[in-house]
Amino acid sequence: MRTQQQGNERLAEDVAEPDVEQLHQLHWRNQTKDQETCVVVPLEDALQGPGHVAWKLIQDIKNDSTNNFEFNGEQILVIALQIWPLEQAWRVHVQPQLGTSATVVTLRKLPNDLGLPRVVIIGGGGCGKTTLMQLVVVPTLRTFFERVVLTAPSNRAARGFDPSAKTLHSIAGMTPKDSMRTSSLHIKSDQMRKRMDANQTHAGVHDEALQTSASLLHASALRTTYARQHKYNLEIACYARPNETMGRISFLTLCGDHLQLPPVPKSSGLLAPLDGTSDEHKVGASMFNNMHYLYEMETMKRFQDPTLIAILEKMRRPKGAKLTEQEWQALLDTELDVSQLERDPEAFLQQTVDWFESSYLWSVVSMACYSRAMASAHQNQQTLFFCQAVDFSEQVSKKDFEVYQRMLAVPSVAHTSRLPGMVLQHINMRVRITTLVLPPWAVQDATGTVMEIDVSARDKQRIRSGDTHRAAEMRLEELPPGVYVKLDNCNREFLPPSVCNEHQRIGFSKHCSTCRALEGWVLIQPICSTWTFTDTVTGATLQVSRAQLPLMPAPACPLYSLQGATCDPGLIAHFAMPKRADEDIKWLIVYVLLSRVRGISCLRSIGLTSRIRKIIEGGPPATLADNLKNYFGRRSKTRRQQLRQPRRRSDGIEHPAFSGGDSHPAFACQLSVTACLQRRQFTSRRSNEGRYGSTAQRRFRSCCSGLVVVAPESPPSL
Ligand SMILES: [Zn+2]
Repeated sequence: MRTQQQGNERLAEDVAEPDVEQLHQLHWRNQTKDQETCVVVPLEDALQGPGHVAWKLIQDIKNDSTNNFEFNGEQILVIALQIWPLEQAWRVHVQPQLGTSATVVTLRKLPNDLGLPRVVIIGGGGCGKTTLMQLVVVPTLRTFFERVVLTAPSNRAARGFDPSAKTLHSIAGMTPKDSMRTSSLHIKSDQMRKRMDANQTHAGVHDEALQTSASLLHASALRTTYARQHKYNLEIACYARPNETMGRISFLTLCGDHLQLPPVPKSSGLLAPLDGTSDEHKVGASMFNNMHYLYEMETMKRFQDPTLIAILEKMRRPKGAKLTEQEWQALLDTELDVSQLERDPEAFLQQTVDWFESSYLWSVVSMACYSRAMASAHQNQQTLFFCQAVDFSEQVSKKDFEVYQRMLAVPSVAHTSRLPGMVLQHINMRVRITTLVLPPWAVQDATGTVMEIDVSARDKQRIRSGDTHRAAEMRLEELPPGVYVKLDNCNREFLPPSVCNEHQRIGFSKHCSTCRALEGWVLIQPICSTWTFTDTVTGATLQVSRAQLPLMPAPACPLYSLQGATCDPGLIAHFAMPKRADEDIKWLIVYVLLSRVRGISCLRSIGLTSRIRKIIEGGPPATLADNLKNYFGRRSKTRRQQLRQPRRRSDGIEHPAFSGGDSHPAFACQLSVTACLQRRQFTSRRSNEGRYGSTAQRRFRSCCSGLVVVAPESPPSL
């Protein structure tokens, strides 16, 4: 007997081993789904160029009556900034083919080594970077390039970006344990070469760029260059030049948010000071800094609450600004009233069903896991199962229970090989996967719903022998052999479908109401992994092997996992922070917590003290502000002004390049602005700083010193 979701009929217990035909059909269904998810651009539109396609997508979204979403001027500008170089390249590409026997494919698909101007888009949470990428830029790229690869620094970020997105590690054929030193980045084996060839891409978008470590950016750029070296006749020494990044791939955009927690350790981030960092780090940071265009988006669409907008705006203001009494009071009103909570815990649970609960500190997160799981089980009227991790260390006696208890009490899964000490789950619970199970779908921080829990034979016995009432909580004596989780936003089938009696012989039928395809269902089994436990009582360091299910309640999560996400319907924010944290980390903790919700009414705070007020009113810490100034400040400002001023002047005026063609006045005008910008020359500033030791660095230096990147003089005319 499986413990299963009420109302759903049980999975057939003794499903016969799926035959080849059945698996073949499953594979075929998955393939069809992959194709269906593509945005289809009609051929007649595609043959009018990237500008036309992008503009059409923008219009389609505006005219779509099923949502009331529309891109604002800033977002259209950002799209144009990326699409304009593409449009130019396409015209150059099409020109010689006109009148010849060109095919649809040769007309439409652009070459793989154009090295178009690189774009960096920076913007705070909720400015719509990801949306405009998903809805316009990526579909346009897919129309004009054979292969488009989307990347992010972590699996979590990749999931938030696109179902097909990969980690930068996997693109570069590396595991997190591999060395990122220049000398280790050669392509060492045929196997790796094959893998790199398979990753060959024509256009790329990298999300959450500012959570990427500089050495990783460097490593993936250099290794891609090695992989593409022969095919595209690349000069290895120039791999760090802006046009040559990632092996001169045709199109590359980096998106990021500088007001988020940097990667761990923070010294590895792209904005961290360069003093004392490795050569690889310096080159990675300079590659980022030398990108051709940088655009900082300012309009935030996530927030609907003027008070919250005002508070966040003051918080971002350099040197800080005082909150008004009303603003601070509005924040204070979100503070949890403990006496009220004790009097009526039900009310609080009712108000905050499905809310997220987060903190920078793992000790708080593990408490939140418990309270969120309890609330969820209560709400769903399900038994909450406690599954304790099975730890074993050869260095301690099995009877040394106290040591084992201390192991279980380690709150951070970062220390325990990503396996929690206690997993709480019930049927229908929203869960988060804590480590890699089935890439690229069931990866760290992927979320889903528990559908069935397959408990051990012994526990089944205990459940049966229990009285007929549903127990509120139950401790399982053995780890469940498996838990079926239905992943969010995943309609792929990983398990053979459950086939009704009628269709036993011909197999699963899509149109049958009793046959059930298990879309998005994955089987999560206990994972065994070793970790190092440092006993604070005895001071001993122990090697421990732990078996556990890699699951935790989805709504309770560390702050790092919330970055880039909107917390709907709300967030319980713990403002507790490590005493020894740096000023910039403290500021970022407060900023990230406050900027997850759409409005103050969706926020409950814990620990909102006058110290937090001081952090809010103090403005971004000097280190953070200086970094921004050093890296973008002057550039982003001048570029923004350049972008804005001509736009005002040329409003409504069509760009000559468009006057003969279709009239997209708005888009043409945006494009013309971008074109103005392209004539600017950008010199590399930082690349010559510091002394580089290794040969690679000297080579890099010689090819970068005095490097002037010149974009095309003027748009090619048709
Ligand atoms: Zn059927």
